[in-house]
Amino acid sequence: MSTFQAPKGTYDLIPPESAKYLAVREAIAAPLRNSGYGYIETPGFENVELFARGVGESTDIVTKEMYAFETKGGSKLALRPEGTASVLRAALEANLHKLGNLPVKLWYSGSYYRYERPQKGRYRHFSQVGAEAIGAEDPALDAELIILADQAYRSLGLRNFRIILNSLGDKECRPVYREALQNFLRGLDLDEETLRRADINPLRVLDDKRPDIQKQLTDAPLLRDYLCDACKAYHEEVRELITAAGVVFEDDPKLVRGLDYYTRTTFEFVHDGLGSQSAVGGGGRYDGLSEMIGGPALPSVGWALGVDRTVLALEAEGVELELPASTSVFAVPLSEEARRVLFTKVTELRKLGIAADFSYGSKGLKGAMKNANRSGARYTVIAGERDLAEGVVQLKDMESGDQTAVGVNEIVAELESKLG
Ligand code: ATP
Ligand code: MG
Repeated sequence: MSTFQAPKGTYDLIPPESAKYLAVREAIAAPLRNSGYGYIETPGFENVELFARGVGESTDIVTKEMYAFETKGGSKLALRPEGTASVLRAALEANLHKLGNLPVKLWYSGSYYRYERPQKGRYRHFSQVGAEAIGAEDPALDAELIILADQAYRSLGLRNFRIILNSLGDKECRPVYREALQNFLRGLDLDEETLRRADINPLRVLDDKRPDIQKQLTDAPLLRDYLCDACKAYHEEVRELITAAGVVFEDDPKLVRGLDYYTRTTFEFVHDGLGSQSAVGGGGRYDGLSEMIGGPALPSVGWALGVDRTVLALEAEGVELELPASTSVFAVPLSEEARRVLFTKVTELRKLGIAADFSYGSKGLKGAMKNANRSGARYTVIAGERDLAEGVVQLKDMESGDQTAVGVNEIVAELESKLG
């Protein structure tokens, strides 16, 4: 152990477990790539103001969880706590919305930072794969994103997740509801901070996880009863499209994502095997966000799925991912000449796309075979002075233990046909 440890709330991805994270990212990205989403990458930090406006001044993310700092040059920056604001900022900056092919569909994958109280499934550095469809108001687009996330989780073998769905209304009906909710909240016994929140962003109070607050909210007015006809029709269409796709969901009239810009469709993916950190992903429509960060009106919808919690969910369900073997062939040279010969063979195998590795450092046969075993290789190729003198190498099948002599010049083709 060195003098240093990973900072509080962070952890390292280390082989072999790290392979799971790659596989999860890949599985979430695959359906997006297959559905017209282009890859976007943005900086790990942005002007703090982007998040203040784009995530919301009154949110926990901005008030408590953001890593904000001032640079030597005096710029006020923040490590990105989420992806949507950055992706929209980048799309606007590159004028993607003016190229005449709306919606602009983008996907991303990366690290996010929030100063939270660390616990299982809640870290200060975590990773998400996300998707945003910018510049179209179409229930099929909302449905598409929900269906693709469902497909991603299923392709990983996850079964015990639930999709919960709600509509948050729009700028016609939300304000009416907001006022009704505020009136209701004023009659409750709330602490000062919560009262302040009720003033600035009353919907967020519905999201309060504290039991004493939740108890008081039992009779809170529901947005469902305030939706205007346009929002009702839109939501009904989303529900029908995902139902027709065979995706099961639950209506949850209390689900809020308490940011002011969220509109209409709102959803969360939850996994019941994760204790209180049960949300594996979430998203929704954010028709107002572009204008809030100084852009034109661009109705949009998106989601972000948490990679760390998805891995925990797989573990909770006991799902073993079918990870490709990292090494198919392991070469064990037992003499100087054999080192040169086998090293060449390993290079040839790699060029053919066969995963091959080599016993480095001068090890005896025993130590080298231990490495071969650990590598998980299907075949080991062993050669010593006597083998080469006879023009052969030893090919060992690591499953059966059988060992046969194969001509030095034939070994690559032999392995290629065996592994092909
Ligand atoms: P929570 O209610 O659990 O705090 P959130 O609403 O803050 O979640 P989002 O901002 O919607 O989460 O982020 C999308 C996903 O990213 C979450 O569903 C979760 O899987 C993951 N996520 C968010 N914060 C963290 C974190 N601190 N550590 C690990 N994963 C996280
Ligand atoms: Mg959170």
